[in-house]
Amino acid sequence: MKIVLLGPPGSGKGTQANIICEKYNLPHVSTGDIFRYNISNNTTLGKKVKSYIDAGSLVPDEVTIEIVKDRLNNADCKKGFVLDGFPRNLPQAKALDEFASIDKAIMIDLADDEIIRRLSGRRMCKKCGNPTHIDWLVDGKCEKCGGEVTTREDDREEVVRARLEKQKLPQDVIDYYVKKGIFAKVKATDTKEKTFEKVNEILKKIKSN
Ligand code: AMP
Repeated sequence: MKIVLLGPPGSGKGTQANIICEKYNLPHVSTGDIFRYNISNNTTLGKKVKSYIDAGSLVPDEVTIEIVKDRLNNADCKKGFVLDGFPRNLPQAKALDEFASIDKAIMIDLADDEIIRRLSGRRMCKKCGNPTHIDWLVDGKCEKCGGEVTTREDDREEVVRARLEKQKLPQDVIDYYVKKGIFAKVKATDTKEKTFEKVNEILKKIKSN
């Protein structure tokens, strides 16, 4: 099963990706996670992308596409994957088709006001990378593994607003997947469990095809 999760930052894509990957035993390929890992390890790639991420801008396509291509070439992605945060524009969507055959592009959708509210409470687990929220923590720790949590640099309100403005998913990406007959949209206003039920209905149809 080769899935793309689309949607604005903070809509819960990462959370849904984690649940799907756990349930269907698929690798979670998140461009944001790859970039953050490289930034925190001060790699050449990390140094190249840090200023874009800090400003809430997109990393240039030539860098991002190469990273995804490399990652999807790994043996663990052969049977399938959940791609989270890529593509974010039409050139990326077209490039992806050259090295992967996507079964479904699922948009996890949420209004801007709710995104800002959610992101101000978002935390990341330092130990297992789980994207979580202050409302879900257990004794201030990650509800999944008990690890310490931290706030993402780019979840500060001014950067969130910049990301929403600069990273609005272009309509042409949606149109591209609609035309291919593989687009689906799920409103993420409910709890993560209820949202997953809706996502899972879509996934079950792919499995039974
Ligand atoms: P995310 O965790 O998906 O919100 O990504 C964090 C940051 O990484 C974004 O704000 C962008 O700066 C960068 N990024 C992630 N995915 C992409 C992409 N597909 N194209 C360009 N930049 C990206």
